[in-house]
Amino acid sequence: MTKKQKTLLYRILVAAVLFVPVYLISEGIVKADLPRWALFCLFLIPYLTVGYDILRKAALGIKNKKVFDECFLMTVATMGAIALGEYGEGVAVMLLYQVGELFQSVAVGKSRRSISALMDIRPDYANVETDDGSLEKVDPDEVEVGTVIVVQPGERIPIDGVVVAGSSALDTAALTGESRPLSISVDDTVLSGSIDMSGVLKVRTTAAFEESTASKILDLVENAAARKSKSETFISKFARIYTPIVCYAALALAVLPPLFLLLTGGSMAGVWRDWLLRACTFLVISCPCAVVISVPLSFFAGLGGASSRGILIKGSNYLETLSKVTTVAFDKTGTITKGNFEVTAVHHSPIEEAALLELAAHAECHSNHPISLSLQRAYGKSLDMNRVTDVEEISGHGITARVDGRTVAVGNERLMNRLGVEFLPCHHVGTVIHVAVDGAYAGHILIRDQLKEHAREAVAALHRLGVKRTVMLTGDRKAVAEQVAREVGITDFKAELLPQDKVAAVEELLSGGKGLAFVGDGINDAPVLSRADIGIAMGALGSDAAIEAADVVLMDDDPLKIAQAIGISRKCLRIVKENIYFALGVKAVCLLLSALGLANMWLAIGADVGVMILAVLNAIRCLFVKRI
Ligand code: ADP
Ligand code: MG
Repeated sequence: MTKKQKTLLYRILVAAVLFVPVYLISEGIVKADLPRWALFCLFLIPYLTVGYDILRKAALGIKNKKVFDECFLMTVATMGAIALGEYGEGVAVMLLYQVGELFQSVAVGKSRRSISALMDIRPDYANVETDDGSLEKVDPDEVEVGTVIVVQPGERIPIDGVVVAGSSALDTAALTGESRPLSISVDDTVLSGSIDMSGVLKVRTTAAFEESTASKILDLVENAAARKSKSETFISKFARIYTPIVCYAALALAVLPPLFLLLTGGSMAGVWRDWLLRACTFLVISCPCAVVISVPLSFFAGLGGASSRGILIKGSNYLETLSKVTTVAFDKTGTITKGNFEVTAVHHSPIEEAALLELAAHAECHSNHPISLSLQRAYGKSLDMNRVTDVEEISGHGITARVDGRTVAVGNERLMNRLGVEFLPCHHVGTVIHVAVDGAYAGHILIRDQLKEHAREAVAALHRLGVKRTVMLTGDRKAVAEQVAREVGITDFKAELLPQDKVAAVEELLSGGKGLAFVGDGINDAPVLSRADIGIAMGALGSDAAIEAADVVLMDDDPLKIAQAIGISRKCLRIVKENIYFALGVKAVCLLLSALGLANMWLAIGADVGVMILAVLNAIRCLFVKRI
């Protein structure tokens, strides 16, 4: 509890202790002959003790011409009750209202704290080795790219980089939600935000602090709260017009029925007092706090719960869209398959296999495409970038470059056609990379990818969630696409697509109805990510383009997270609806009772605080996300 919350708690306790005996006396349960004014004074003490800040806020509101808020409702209602001689009820309303406020502030604070603990990845310092070999703590902001920093066991890695010495196990849970430690050694990339669990590491930074993973994630999470969902915006607009309406309605309730009686000449004994009291009760009942507090809290908790599982959702509006997804389209490489191609064969090459790989790997040396990385890995030796010039990457086709002064083209059939090189087709299933040197065909390399571990389960989980259609979009050959789709249980596929064809395919799917999610790895599919109703980038920690273009970022590359994200969004939206219906339902019943004169203030405030506590507890459930 914060200091403010503690003070409020003490005030509530003191007021309650002072209130109870006086109430018992006033109700005649405890016999004591006190004059009316003495009772009034005795009630006034707990009233002011517990409620002075509400009264002050109401007064400030009037002064600043922002009259209609909850404090105003409560002030008018309680003062009204007291003025009408219902001292006990007036004080009780204020007391219970504050109990509700305290509860809500503790609950909101708790969920905020648990989220910021999850997102507590902001490093405070970086250790830089000085010339005399000692370590100096510096602000990570000031570390230049390429500096070697030292990370000790237990410390958080402050800036992205590559390990140059040492080995260790990293805890990446804060980034990916994955609790299994990741073992790393020299030459491995490390991302800021992960914790070094065992060894001392020397890391050469590859990015500036504000370009590092931790900063980017924090940015994203901090901005998420600003993108409001439709329901949230609706609620805040609703509260702005609702409260004044309630106040005028209460005024009408206090004035019109007695006036009517007066005009029709009925007996007026006690009538004014009766209706004024009803109006006060009405005000208490109409207080909208349960809804106003619980809806944003639910979304907030939903976003937080998702980030604790390595699912970053860029705003509660996306949470809403995500919950309505009915079709999921996937990119293949890197999304359903690992993107770790293995060279399985080299066919029809006039030159030696190793020499062919050397040329291909060099031509690909500047690209981040999974195929490029795989060829570089298959070559195995270090690449000499000085041998390579004039690199041109043609997306959906492949690469052309000059290696040792020779023109090398590496890519698919389409690339060969485009260059007018005659090639020999391959009859094996797998991705085929044709190579041409100086315009002459130099054979092809057959590479094969593996399915991701959870790909099958992930697609099944989506279908279980009621996603009707799953579609795979790929630039790869039809035979490969068909095999992959069948193996993982995807219902449709489209193959041999260029990046712009993927956009067209997505547009076609979009016209088929609402709720299309596209899942990609961000490598040449950023346009598609932003075109779909909701773009989900996976394994996106490396790729800036993906983080930019996507609405949902999955921090590791486990496809099961897609279903999990949809599950979280549905749960969150369900809880929001439950709260709205429940709160409005209870209010409606109470309003009806009070209009009929059957509800007193005790019932009104009880219902108000009770509904609020239940709604807040319900909202907090959004924080807890089951693992799939
Ligand atoms: P996917 O849809 O599987 O993500 P892309 O659209 O990135 O695939 O690429 C489609 C096809 O284009 C690949 O299957 C490959 O044949 C060819 N290609 C793309 N980039 C390269 C590259 N860097 N080197 C060789 N071939 C490539
Ligand atoms: Mg791709």
